[in-house]
Amino acid sequence: MVNIKENLYSLNKNIDELKNSIRPAIVAVSKQQNFEKIIEAFKAGQTIFAENYLQEALDKQKLLKEYPIEWHFIGPIQSNKCKLIAENFHWVQTVDRIKIAKRLNDNCINKKINICIQINISEEESKSGIMLDEVDSFVSELNQFKQLRLRGIMAIPSHISQEDKLIRELTLLKKIFDNLKIKNKNMDTLSVGMSEDYLLALNYGSTMIRVGSHIFGARK
Ligand SMILES: *Cc1c(COP(=O)(O)O)cnc(C)c1O
Repeated sequence: MVNIKENLYSLNKNIDELKNSIRPAIVAVSKQQNFEKIIEAFKAGQTIFAENYLQEALDKQKLLKEYPIEWHFIGPIQSNKCKLIAENFHWVQTVDRIKIAKRLNDNCINKKINICIQINISEEESKSGIMLDEVDSFVSELNQFKQLRLRGIMAIPSHISQEDKLIRELTLLKKIFDNLKIKNKNMDTLSVGMSEDYLLALNYGSTMIRVGSHIFGARK
């Protein structure tokens, strides 16, 4: 049986042992995990959760209304879903089109939403995210959207089995992040690192890790 409390404890312990100067945010990725597991994690001190699929997320949020959870959206975004995403999430980490940014912005009524730009760090055409040479112009265009608080960048780099490639990508992400921070004072988030590579990602400057199976066990 999966022991969520123990998994969270070991995750936090591993992070402490790195002795990095900044403590990363831990986002618990609860996609394809039931809401009881979210409650279990919440009771063990975890307050930030992320979902990839809107309907699944809304179903769980309804059951978890009483819990003061910070919800992150980390899945692909269709434009007809922007209204519900803007209304029901505190963060959207997968913004990679201006049209989506505009719709999220226009649907934020009396609230601001935190966003990350998703970057296609491996530059494979099949993957989501903007290309590296588009980053600066994308950031300038986002400035017009007053309801969006641009917090940083997010990426899903290459698998740990290609460690050299992964390290090159993590290094490059950190460089992009540091460059962006010079001009964008609100930026504080480099969201990279999942169950298999979070320790490596943290050694390369990640400030936010998104961890699913290490906390909840294998997905259904
Ligand atoms: C599923 C998912 C994760 C978590 O993956 P694990 O390997 O289970 O930790 C993190 N980020 C994104 C974008 C995901 O889709």
